[in-house]
Amino acid sequence: MSHKCDSCEKEFDTYESMKQHSEAAHSGGQPATQGSQSRAAIKIPWYVPVLVVIIIAIAAFVILKPSTPQQATTAPSVPEGQPANYWTESFPFGTNPNLHWHAYPSFKLCGEDKTFLQILNMVGVKFVNGMAGPHVMHVHEGEPWFHIESPPPTRKAITLANAFKGLNIKFSNNGILNYQGTSGCNNNQTNSLKVSVDGKPVEDPENLVLQDKQKILIDYS
Ligand SMILES: [Zn+2]
Ligand SMILES: [Zn+2]
Repeated sequence: MSHKCDSCEKEFDTYESMKQHSEAAHSGGQPATQGSQSRAAIKIPWYVPVLVVIIIAIAAFVILKPSTPQQATTAPSVPEGQPANYWTESFPFGTNPNLHWHAYPSFKLCGEDKTFLQILNMVGVKFVNGMAGPHVMHVHEGEPWFHIESPPPTRKAITLANAFKGLNIKFSNNGILNYQGTSGCNNNQTNSLKVSVDGKPVEDPENLVLQDKQKILIDYS
């Protein structure tokens, strides 16, 4: 007597061998499918590790990015041939308690001459007892120049950027006040900030160290 498989009509000598065949070849379909389904559910798609790497990379970029410009303003590079403590040592050298310097800024904004008094007026700098700004680098009402006074500060304390910062005047190598970037004059030309001291161009205006009798021309054009 032969036993026929219900699914493929193949014949077997015994019921047992037919059943074995039937289970192996046909009825196994459902459990096998379930198995592959559960494997598919657990399987991590190929792009997940890629996404994780991208997210970590973006997070690292966002966290690290602000520190770059910050470093640039808080720690300017030491000029060639100067000692490592150039920005932190007492300047001028020694501790002259009678230090009293004056530096004279003037302005040319998109071709228009402006005095320091006009700039102070534009910004609305408030004078208290006739003075504005920190003592180390202050201005007196009606006088278009900076006073740099003792105690002798570091060079970092008496840079041009810090002088303007003390008066809330927006200033960086990128521009001054609303004159910023490459199109601050709106004249279809590439604009930029140019600073010169006694007629000599300054490479890094932000970090120009103020000194006595300097005539500083701040030109944005
Ligand atoms: Zn003075
Ligand atoms: Zn003074």
